[in-house]
Amino acid sequence: MSEDRMKRFDEIKLAALNCTACPLAPTRTQVVFSRGDPRARLWIIGEGPGADEDATGTPFVGRAGQLLDKILVAAKIGQNEVFITNTVFCRPPGNRVPTNEEITACSVHRDALLDLWKPPIVVLLGATAARVFLGADRLADLRGQRVERDGRAYFPTFHPAYLLRDPRQKDPAWKDWQLIRDALRGLPPDGGGAPVDPSDEALVASRSLMPYLEQPVMTPEGTGRLVQVFLGRAAVVLDVKPSKVTYFPTEVLAELLTRRRAG
Ligand code: SF4
Repeated sequence: MSEDRMKRFDEIKLAALNCTACPLAPTRTQVVFSRGDPRARLWIIGEGPGADEDATGTPFVGRAGQLLDKILVAAKIGQNEVFITNTVFCRPPGNRVPTNEEITACSVHRDALLDLWKPPIVVLLGATAARVFLGADRLADLRGQRVERDGRAYFPTFHPAYLLRDPRQKDPAWKDWQLIRDALRGLPPDGGGAPVDPSDEALVASRSLMPYLEQPVMTPEGTGRLVQVFLGRAAVVLDVKPSKVTYFPTEVLAELLTRRRAG
């Protein structure tokens, strides 16, 4: 199942990389498709690629992307927990707002991705994404709220490029990201998003550890606090002085926590 899904993902990506369906095609350097793991249960959707993204082919690598990465670090959301893309995949010249024609043309790729992976949480960065997905006339009408639609939770918030222009909005933005983090941590380990192939043991183990973030855990080296989960390994701050961060295989910690629950 997971293999079929990845095959379909590759087909959607290939179609987008060769797409000439809207007026943005002739002026782009390259199509900017996505960043991260599409199996992630938290998707982040911005407006469109900027100059740095157009040059590299990767979304959110410029100054706004660096700020987004800092926000994720502060919220203790790992890069392996997010999938990042845009409303349109090609750069609008001069970073103008994409037109309705361009947004509609690109919905073929966007909707195919969402239908395939069914992320339970989608963060909408900026007014364009909020308008496209939720029909909001203004970002201010919905920002800071959790909007349930199409079987998923949407969180409209400021685009990081806007936060660079108006740093006073960083405080309300941080409140939005705390809500987003809490929603992600509140998902059951096997709930929401694309079904996980049980043979993908690293992914199953990583997800089962998510609810224990910031909680005490017993490790083969003593007790500690689980602070970060990656695919295949997890970081624990051990209760020793001076405190020590140690990495354990996720399968080992998941097994220990399951046994403790059963016992
Ligand atoms: S923006 Fe989307 S629809 Fe337009 S050319 Fe690029 S990939 Fe195709």
